[in-house]
Amino acid sequence: MIDLFSISEVRALLERHGFSFKKSLGQNFITNRWIPERFVSSSSITKNHGVLEIGPGIGSLTQSLCEAAGKVTCLEIDERLLALLQETLSGYENLVIRHGDALKADLGEIVREDLDGLIPIACANLPYYITTPILERLFESHLFSLITVMVQKEVALRICAKPGTSDYGSFTVFAEYYSRPRILFEVSANNFLPRPKVDSAVVLFEMRDEKPFGITDEKLFFRIVRGSFQNRRKTLVNALSSTLKMKKEDIASVISACGHKLDVRGETLSAEAFAKISEEMLKKLVECEQ
Ligand code: SAM
Repeated sequence: MIDLFSISEVRALLERHGFSFKKSLGQNFITNRWIPERFVSSSSITKNHGVLEIGPGIGSLTQSLCEAAGKVTCLEIDERLLALLQETLSGYENLVIRHGDALKADLGEIVREDLDGLIPIACANLPYYITTPILERLFESHLFSLITVMVQKEVALRICAKPGTSDYGSFTVFAEYYSRPRILFEVSANNFLPRPKVDSAVVLFEMRDEKPFGITDEKLFFRIVRGSFQNRRKTLVNALSSTLKMKKEDIASVISACGHKLDVRGETLSAEAFAKISEEMLKKLVECEQ
């Protein structure tokens, strides 16, 4: 079997398949064995898990996933890598290799067809150019109990940021709504071929089972969150009066009923605090309509 962590063997493999890297597909392959090993061990993957891996590349992470999980199905957009993956992963019987775009494929169907009877989880060393849309798709699918991904370090810091810090933003609240995220470990740019410009970090999202924080109107919640961060420098009352079709005094009364001062800014509020505001705002909207 080819050693995917030997640079000379990987270069020979790529040359034999006439493969050249496509920057547009975010192709940076892991070159050190400790990374997939730690990725898998710190995600606590067992034989009861069925893994959907997005973007297997040449299979460096896939091998460790196959060893730990009951089954793995991987989805690669670059057709040129399929023959190569057949070769590097030929020893694994608990693996399905699929050709497709993770932004378009029917993930529910893949999970049902390939991972039946197992606990579905998603894993990836994500291509940088589509980190956010892929995470949104994975979250909104409600298919996975765990999602472990490698992303740019700065994205990881934004995802796990605390309210009131400069990294805190609407995506932080979005991730918190769907999951409990935490950074597992950081990986320097020297661990990839080709070497990217930035460092990475592995983030684990423990997905929440139900709609969190008692939110009944998800759309309103996200409108409020987006509205507050689009107008970051404004007070929450001013930011929301540009977003919601409501009188400023009604918005102000909701904000103070939720226990906040009227000069509070959205960037200092937790997802739970946004949820409380959203529920109170819903009551006020109904009241105003009557
Ligand atoms: N998993 C490998 C590793 O860690 O060494 C490769 C990771 S590389 C950062 C990202 C991989 O995702 C590449 O193989 C790329 O071709 C693939 N990819 C890019 N866009 C994709 C998409 N929309 N759907 C599925 N795979 C995609």
